[in-house]
Order: sequence, then C-alpha cells, then structure tokens
Amino acid sequence: MKTILVTGGTGFIGANLCRRLIADGHRVICLDNNYTGSLENVQELQACPRFSFVKHDVIEPYDCPEKLDYIYNLACPASPPFYQGNRSIFTTKTCVFGIINMLELAKRDGARILQTSTSEVYGEPLVHPQPETYRGNVNPHGIRACYDEGKRCAESLMFDYHRHEGVDIRVIRIFNTYGPYMNPDDGRVVSNFICQALRGQDITIYGEGQQTRSFQYIDDLIEGMVRMMENEQGFTGPVNIGNPGEFTILQLAEQVLSKIPTTSKLVYRPLPGDDPTQRRPDITLADKELGWAPTINLDKGLDLTIAYFRRKLGL
Ligand code: UDP
Repeated sequence: MKTILVTGGTGFIGANLCRRLIADGHRVICLDNNYTGSLENVQELQACPRFSFVKHDVIEPYDCPEKLDYIYNLACPASPPFYQGNRSIFTTKTCVFGIINMLELAKRDGARILQTSTSEVYGEPLVHPQPETYRGNVNPHGIRACYDEGKRCAESLMFDYHRHEGVDIRVIRIFNTYGPYMNPDDGRVVSNFICQALRGQDITIYGEGQQTRSFQYIDDLIEGMVRMMENEQGFTGPVNIGNPGEFTILQLAEQVLSKIPTTSKLVYRPLPGDDPTQRRPDITLADKELGWAPTINLDKGLDLTIAYFRRKLGL
C-alpha cells in the first residue's frame, strides 16, 4: 500500500484516478479547491477509511501531515471557458505555484511525482501527428497561453527539480479525454454535444467543425497514468497519453447524433481564438516504454459516456 496525494482529486480525471487507486488498495489523500471539481464526484469513496478529502488550493504550500510515496498533480481548470477570461491569471498561478508547492513536498518526502501536462504544449502544431520531440507552436500572449505556457513552465520546473534536487519525476502529456464524471456544463466538446443532444438543445459547432481532435476514453488514460507512475525503469517522460483515432468536430457531432434520438440541430458559432486546427498523438514512446496503448474506441467510449450522462441528468 502506498500513501498517495492526488491534487485536483474531485475533478473529472482526479475522481476516476482516486477510484482506481482506492480499488488498488492504496491510501489516497484527495486535495482540491473544488473550483471545477465537486465532492459529489467522490461521494461513495468517502466511506472508505483509506480515502480522505482535504479542501486546499495548490497555489498555497501544503504541509501534508502524512509521509507521501506518490503525488499525482492534476490540479488545474482544464476547460477553455473555465481557465480563460478573468480566471487566466489564476490558471497560470495554479500551474506554476502549484507545481512548485508539490515539488517541494515531493522533495521533503522523497516521493515520486507525476505531472499531468497536456497536448496544449504543442499549441497550433506544425508537425502532425505530434511526437514528444516536437517543441510546439504556442502563441505566448493569446487567450490559451495562461494554460499552455503554465503547463510548459510546470514541465520545465519538473525537469529542474529532477536535475538539481534529485526529485523522481514523471511527465505525461494528456490529449483530449472524455468519460464519466465530466461536468455536464464544463463546456468541452464531448460533454457539450452529448448533453445538448440529451436535452434537445442545438449542437454548437465552433467554426466550420473541420478542426480535428483525438478523443481518449478515461479508463485508457488512467491505465497510462498508473503505468507511468509505477514504472521502475526511471522513465521520466514526457510521454504522450492519448488515442490516435482522429476525428473532425463535425464527425463527432454526427456520431453523437447517431446514438441519441433527439430534435437537436447543428448550429454554427464563431471559432474561439487560437483554437488548434489539428491534434493527434504519436504514441510510439508510450508503447515502447510502458507497453501502453488505448483499448476503447470512440464508438464504445461514447456509449459508456452517454449512459453516464443519462443517469446523471435523469434523461
Ligand atoms: N467545440 C465545439 N463546440 C463546443 C465545444 C467545443 O465545436 O460546444 C470545439 C472547440 O472549438 C475545439 C474542439 O471542439 O475545436 C475541442 O474543444 P474542447 O474545449 O473540448 O477541447 P480543446 O479545445 O481544449 O482541445
């Protein structure tokens, strides 16, 4: 049994990770400010004596009363409407102060720390698909920069603490992920389209819907995260964790509509600034170092996610 801190533990990915770690028999401390996460997401875990919740913002140092073996650092709003606008400075602070505080904790305890970086480090990619060696094309002063540059800075801090302080680090770059425990109203495309179709609301296509994304089901991501953390070969990454199946946003809308009987129609809205045109992970490295590849395709993953939202929304 390991003692594990999960920051951002009540969010979409965090809640799924906490479930997995509890099922694996670990002691889990779930830390969150509940800005985008919710205690509802970890409700039944609270009955487990190996699970506890701490309300805390990673922008402030955290003096954990227990000695930690592993830290998974997930804390950061991840949906553009929640991380941009008047939250953008808070987003950068969460990325940068948050990782410094968690790296200091890792140093204190000799704990291993995994940073959830992002495909956003590639910005508007000029190389396709994106391998980890591609250094990206980020607009440093655009509306996504608070997140993209915040996560890039967090990667650089991870490697500096590794080089200069000997901290045992792991860096994964997560591509678009969907599944149960997403917030129905968080604004991301898969949850938006499913909830719009279930509620009979119009399906909002930004731009012409020709931009592409590669959608990964949450269980595949969690498996990749755990393999990365538990890898004993000292593999630091960064490593892409994503599903290489690539779809246009219009194709996604059509697939969702084919699965949900609805009166919803497609409507077109302006494309947000700096919205990447294409995105697909090269996962050769994850396969080689972790023996990892996704197992759940979009068709199956959408069925599982639609079933979740039907229960959640009572529709
Ligand atoms: N998008 C869309 N309609 C929506 C929400 C998002 O067409 O209701 C588009 C968005 O412009 C982007 C893609 O879907 O091109 C993925 O958006 P999301 O916010 O899910 O993730 P990210 O842009 O961070 O990859």
